Amino acid sequence: MQPSLPGKIIISKREIRNVKKVPFLELKNGRLQGVVSSGSDIMRVYVSFIQAGDFQFNCRTNNNRPCAGIGANYFCKHITTLITESCKQYGIPAIAKYLKIPEVQSVNDIFTHIKPRKTDEHAADIFSRFLDYLRFLELEPLGIPVPEMDWYI
Ligand SMILES: [Zn+2]
Repeated sequence: MQPSLPGKIIISKREIRNVKKVPFLELKNGRLQGVVSSGSDIMRVYVSFIQAGDFQFNCRTNNNRPCAGIGANYFCKHITTLITESCKQYGIPAIAKYLKIPEVQSVNDIFTHIKPRKTDEHAADIFSRFLDYLRFLELEPLGIPVPEMDWYI
């Protein structure tokens, strides 16, 4: 049985996302959000989100510093990577529907429809939850599915 989100979005996993680029990704509270690797500094990750419908977004480091790559109405490479990798994992139609974008054919269509708007809202809860979920990796396998770890598969 495939999981579904409110609004009857059926999620079917399509490809394996690059976990080195995006170690954590989730569709939660009306946001596509996650943790994105720096690419240049192994000790730094970025915590990024984009809100469905109004496309408000923000990106900050794990130390809660602003990402230097974002503007008031354009994404940094971390949010671009977050969207691209989410399409690999959940499929383009599911991500388009979740973000409330009219039906699209490609990842580029998604970017064409999005009108980004930076918000000052922080996303520290995303990184905290990611760290909390990582605790499960240290436990002995239970032999049963652990829903909290669905993002890891
Ligand atoms: Zn960024």
